[in-house]
Amino acid sequence: MDFNVVVIGAGLGGCAAGAALAGAGKKVLVLERTDKVGGRCSTMEKNGFEMDMGSHMILRTGYGPFREALSRVGKEKEVEFFHIRKMLLKVGDTSIEIGFKTFFVMLQDLFPSSLVGLAVKLLAAVEKPLNRFTANLDKKTIQNFVARYTDSLVWHNLLDWCAFILYGTPYWETPMGELMRTVTGVLAPLVEGIGEGEFMAGYIKGGLIAVPNALCRGIKEHGGEIRTGVDVKRIIVENGRAIGVETDTGEVICSDLILSNAGIRETVSKLVGEQYFNKEYAEYIRALKPGCSGWCLRLALDEPFVEYDLIFNIPEKDTQEYYRKMWIEQEVPEGLPAIMATTPSNMDPTLAPEGKQSLIAIAPVSFDPSENWPLWEQKALDAVEDAIPGISDHIIWHDFLAPGTYLVFGEEKAPAIGIAQCMGQAGKDRPSSISPVEGLYYVGAEAGKNASGVATEVAIQSGLNCADYLLKKKKVSPLLKKIGKGSKMLQKV
Ligand SMILES: Cc1cc2nc3c(=O)[nH]c(=O)nc-3n(C[C@H](O)[C@H](O)[C@H](O)COP(=O)(O)OP(=O)(O)OC[C@H]3O[C@@H](n4cnc5c(N)ncnc54)[C@H](O)[C@@H]3O)c2cc1C
Repeated sequence: MDFNVVVIGAGLGGCAAGAALAGAGKKVLVLERTDKVGGRCSTMEKNGFEMDMGSHMILRTGYGPFREALSRVGKEKEVEFFHIRKMLLKVGDTSIEIGFKTFFVMLQDLFPSSLVGLAVKLLAAVEKPLNRFTANLDKKTIQNFVARYTDSLVWHNLLDWCAFILYGTPYWETPMGELMRTVTGVLAPLVEGIGEGEFMAGYIKGGLIAVPNALCRGIKEHGGEIRTGVDVKRIIVENGRAIGVETDTGEVICSDLILSNAGIRETVSKLVGEQYFNKEYAEYIRALKPGCSGWCLRLALDEPFVEYDLIFNIPEKDTQEYYRKMWIEQEVPEGLPAIMATTPSNMDPTLAPEGKQSLIAIAPVSFDPSENWPLWEQKALDAVEDAIPGISDHIIWHDFLAPGTYLVFGEEKAPAIGIAQCMGQAGKDRPSSISPVEGLYYVGAEAGKNASGVATEVAIQSGLNCADYLLKKKKVSPLLKKIGKGSKMLQKV
């Protein structure tokens, strides 16, 4: 056997797991169906602009799982992170410019004092034992939790929007525990005095692809191999054990361990086949809810017209009505979508030709394979103009990535993040990375207990947790399996 581990897919989850295993001395082969690594976290050149596949704001930049994954193959010094300097938050008619130092003062201006009290309660909660506290909060939705403190539409709109972009699900379906885990993840480095005085969130020099590229370089330097343009068609299972994969050209590659970054639902139903799992498990996987899809509008601007690095614009007075239409009725709602827009070339000027600017806007949306996309494209352009008046006069070109663009990465309905981090699918309720088929594991934003937080970071954390589990794994004895203790192993990652 040439490889100890075959990883299917070079998204962040696959690259992080591959790097951790290669760094620990395992011989790793990564197979990627497209011609580039990075999956949904990738960057491509167009007319002199380097544009990402999504908006991509990294929540904890060099203080979270990104740097941890890079360090596993000695690449942490090869990737540079930038922090947001200036941010604009517009909710309805209220518009505030946010700098780190003024952040809390501005919160007081924007929200009634009872809400500042709520924020203080949230921050104080960080002191409590995290697991017990967030597990309790997993029983409440963000909406229920916040409704106890306020009925302010501004606050509810903001949290509803945040739940969609952070977790792929509305705030009336998102557990409060997930938000608390995200908040504490951000606060932890601050409590240790790291990153004080600046926003932690930011961007990456060279575009988002810099990270998967560096991880893949690391895997190769540690004896591994990355093959792009290789579509895995089948995971071969014999006697209840995954023994290898078959590619689209019919090549069979055998390995002790198969890590799939191709999405948990697709792995079970298409790559392995439900017949290899028991009925309950197959049904459980089939019932997992995908998160919302997303569209992405990429603008090439004739000059650095936008001064902010990050803009949130929530134009609707009642986002819940908007999202109800979009999410439940799957319609194109009246009114403009809320958007998040970033200006990558503000942070890294090499991403646009000299004197020009790039802007990328995203919004959550239901997956709709119908012909509605030209309508959404116009709405996206209108939403950007609403957020940044006058910008339309500066557009050299734009392109609009409808959710269907992301189908190439393998998952039905192309969720922007992965499975929804909703009630029953977040925290300890996330699907385990360990599959019932021996030798088969899932990595990425679709699986992994204890991988919580935001999209790219969840994907990386899932890969790292799974790799660490495999590196330390002790065989579960048949006796333990028989008396049910073996299932405890499944709780770990
Ligand atoms: C528009 C948009 C905006 C976003 N904005 C943000 C943001 O601002 N911040 C943030 O943190 N996250 C954001 N995200 C989410 C984030 O990009 C994803 O959650 C994350 O990149 C998922 O990584 P992954 O490894 O789980 O999966 P993927 O990136 O999908 O990787 C899976 C890989 O597996 C490959 N593959 C699948 N099947 C096969 C097969 N059979 N054989 C071989 N290869 C296969 C795919 O081609 C792909 O490369 C955004 C996503 C979108 C779509």
